[in-house]
Amino acid sequence: MIIADMHTHSENSHDSRANILKNADFAYNNGIDVFAVTDHADIQFYNERNIYNAIKNSVKEAKEANEKYKGKVKVLHGVELGESIWSMHYACEILDSNEFDVVLLSVHDLRTKKILKPFSDFDFTALTRDELFDFINKYFEYLLLSLKSVKCDICAHLTLPFRYINNKCNLNLSTKLFEDKITEILKYLIENNIALEANVSKSNGGMIPEKWIFEKYKALDGCLITIGSDAHVTENLGCGILETAKLLKNMGFENYYYYEKRKPIAIKL
Ligand SMILES: [Zn+2]
Ligand SMILES: [Zn+2]
Repeated sequence: MIIADMHTHSENSHDSRANILKNADFAYNNGIDVFAVTDHADIQFYNERNIYNAIKNSVKEAKEANEKYKGKVKVLHGVELGESIWSMHYACEILDSNEFDVVLLSVHDLRTKKILKPFSDFDFTALTRDELFDFINKYFEYLLLSLKSVKCDICAHLTLPFRYINNKCNLNLSTKLFEDKITEILKYLIENNIALEANVSKSNGGMIPEKWIFEKYKALDGCLITIGSDAHVTENLGCGILETAKLLKNMGFENYYYYEKRKPIAIKL
């Protein structure tokens, strides 16, 4: 089976030092057939981090690696577009000035009166239960708005706040409590041919979203799934892809997908 990792970062992201050529070399030596470079375009930091140039460079390097590893590893050039609705002008500038193979849509940051940082840096134990519920409901609403705001291919790490709420802050909050909101998003993805990502980042403590959400997706006739390691270091590239593909097969899915030139390509499970 083809191993395709649709979510990886490089030194063109603020939080990674990985080199794309080294990643391609690692992929070649570890049986990873396809990987997409999807560096962060976090719109709220557009000027502060010079996102425009970083993404231009990411695309250039991914194309060069693809050329160098032709016939060995397919290196796709994509982007992880975060917080698109903070500035539609900047989001469109990124999308219009690059011809991506794939566009991931993410939400990592949602500001409220009490939460003034991205999820990854916030201490959720500082919230009351009502505030926490309110925040999570807002996350799903904000994600849906973001998905509607631009043409994207993959919804990345649906339920991301739970990575921090449960794994970092140990609040033990069940995603099941938000089944209605999650179902609404799954339906939107299916109706609009946007793939659901199985994010198997090492920071998750498991797959995001959880298995029951993929079962729900299947019950709604969803079939477009990608798998992403969300690797920020070379040695995590491709991690968990094969195991996740097996899990999806056991759940009754027939394929998983990778994207090239914004089109899904099926990989038989
Ligand atoms: Zn992300
Ligand atoms: Zn990522």
